[in-house]
Order: sequence, then structure tokens, then C-alpha cells
Amino acid sequence: MIKISSDFDHGNINCLDLSNLSDIRLEIEQDGKAKFYQWFFYCVEGAMTRPLVMNIVNANGASYPGGWNDYRAVASYDHERWFRVETGYDGRSLTIKHTPDHDRVYYAYFAAYPAARCKALVEKTRRSSLIAHEYLGQTLDGQDIDYFRAGEPGENKRHYWVNARQHPGETMASWWMEGFLARITDEDDPAAQILREKAVVHIIPCMNLDGVKRGHLRTNAAGTDLNRAWRNTSMELSPEVFLVRRKMQETGVDFFLDVHGDEAIPNNFLDSAKGIPSWNDRHEMLCDRYAALLLEASKDFQTKDGYPAAAPGAANLDIANSYVAETWNCLSMTLEMPFKDANINPDPVYGWSPERCRKFGRDNLAVMAQMIDVVR
Ligand SMILES: [Zn+2]
Repeated sequence: MIKISSDFDHGNINCLDLSNLSDIRLEIEQDGKAKFYQWFFYCVEGAMTRPLVMNIVNANGASYPGGWNDYRAVASYDHERWFRVETGYDGRSLTIKHTPDHDRVYYAYFAAYPAARCKALVEKTRRSSLIAHEYLGQTLDGQDIDYFRAGEPGENKRHYWVNARQHPGETMASWWMEGFLARITDEDDPAAQILREKAVVHIIPCMNLDGVKRGHLRTNAAGTDLNRAWRNTSMELSPEVFLVRRKMQETGVDFFLDVHGDEAIPNNFLDSAKGIPSWNDRHEMLCDRYAALLLEASKDFQTKDGYPAAAPGAANLDIANSYVAETWNCLSMTLEMPFKDANINPDPVYGWSPERCRKFGRDNLAVMAQMIDVVR
């Protein structure tokens, strides 16, 4: 008896027809109250050695249909090793073809990172004596919002903020955060030492726990896209942003990195806050410096592909990156990683992967340390 399920933490699929294994029909469910959808994560049981052809029939109506071109889904037997599987897109359906080697197999849009794993990462990180932990408050579903602080507050210290997972379907941000947290709590790492001595590093490991648990692509329990809720935020619709923003107001911000994934662009890239009203040569210089140092630090980074810069004055201040840059007049960037592969450095088996995300998190930390004397 073959079974397809997604009724678990972070799961999302609706099975329409399982009667023919050569034409399994699935659809992705939208984000509760909001019309976004693209994240899928489901389990197939009882199909060992059986060739499966799985058609996601509502793929063309997804939030970013351009994300399906040249895209390959991931599969895993153990939630650790996620490998790419044959995937095609005909302009209507996304078709995943795979013959599982085990009785139970998971398929996902990108290596899954459920809410339980977010919490396990927090518990592991909290054991370090080099980091302090607080709850900032609760989400609408009653989950605690975790906050970390590395480095003791003191005179003349720079305030770095690093946030991940405003968008729950962008799981690469959590894998990135695993690498970042491991390095910032490494006693002997010289870059981490510099940051802890000269800065206070404020970290939100997972902004949108409700969206993660519910299997959403972009929004929280109220259907709010948190990365469009920074200028006007409320405890009713976006408590995650409200509480993090309030903490930022307490500490001040000298540097901000907001970690995301992009559906369509097959490379890692940075997006600046260019287009905010107060944009100036100094903002430009700091962004260029960070990008140049990251190019040296990581062979997976590039500056050719990315979003077009906003025209002067046209930045959307509802977005965290622009809101923070304008409010605190500081270096503030969005870091995007691909769902596809990093084309400048392709990997036929895994594509852009958890291991590479972790490494990229570590590499970004080194650049943050190199920036310490110029950010303010
Ligand atoms: Zn995002």
C-alpha cells in the first residue's frame, strides 16, 4: 500500500490521484490566507524500487513559475543527505521522476528545515558559553521567537544584526545559519573572536516559525509576508517583525544582513538598499566593499546575476533591508541563495546544498569581521 503524506511539521502537498504510479497527481497548497505557494515537502511510503512519476499539476500558478525552469527537486531518505532527482516543467506541471531505494522517501522544493530542527539548532547553540539567548515574545501560533547575542555589550561596540527565514520556504537560510552559528560560537576562530570583541552580534535564527511549521512559502499564520511588513508592523498581523524591530530600536544597528533564497536566479547574490531616500556614496562604498571581500572569501559568490537596483527614491521601505538602511543609516543587505544550483560552480548530484549553505554562512562571518573598522 503506497501512501503520500505531508501532515507533519513543514509539510505541504495535496495528493489528488495515486491510482497510477506513472501519473501521480499532486498539488501544492497555498499559504493559508495568502495566495502564495511554491514550497512542497512530502513523504512517499511503500514505493521501494517502484518508478514514480509525480506531477505537480498546479505548478504554473505558483508564485514564481520562472523558478521551475532548469530546476531539479531534492529527495532524501534521512533528512540529512538531500540529492537532486530528475525534474521537468512543461509550462503547466512540474514532473518529478524517481525510483526510491527505501520504503520511505521525502521530496521537497529544497532541503527541508522544519520548525523542530530550528528549535534543535537553538538548543544546541544555547549550550555555548559564548552566546546569550532570549525569547523576544511569541508568534500568533504561540511559538517562542528566539534571539541570540554574541559578544558582550560595551562602549564603542558595533551592533551587527543577522536575520534568517522571514520567508519560511527559503530553507537555505536556515542551513546557512547552522554554519554561521557554529562559527560565531567557535572559541578559537580568529574572525569570530574579532566580531565578539569589537561587536555585539544579534541573531534571529528563524523569524517565521509559524510559516515553517505550516508548510508556507512566504507568510506567517496571519498570511502576512514579513518582508513587506517592516514600515507598518503590528502584534496582530506581524508580531515577528514588531518584536525584532523593537529589539533593534533598543540596540541600534550598524550592520544588517537578511538571509533569503531566490526561486529564479541560479546563483548567490546580494541585494543592496539602493533607492532609499538617504542613499549616498558611503552606502555604495560599504556594499561594494562587502561584495568584493565576499568574492575573495567564497568561490560560490558572484556579482553578475542579481536584482536590478531600484531607481533613486524608489526603494520599498516595507522590506527589511531598505527599512533598516534608511532608519539606521547603515550597511544593510539581503543575501539570496538559489533553489536551483549556483551556476558559477555547479554540482550535478546535490546542486546548491545544505553543506554549501553552511560553508557560505561561515564565509560571510569572515567578511563581517573584515568590515569591523569601516561599518561605522
Ligand atoms: Zn525571501
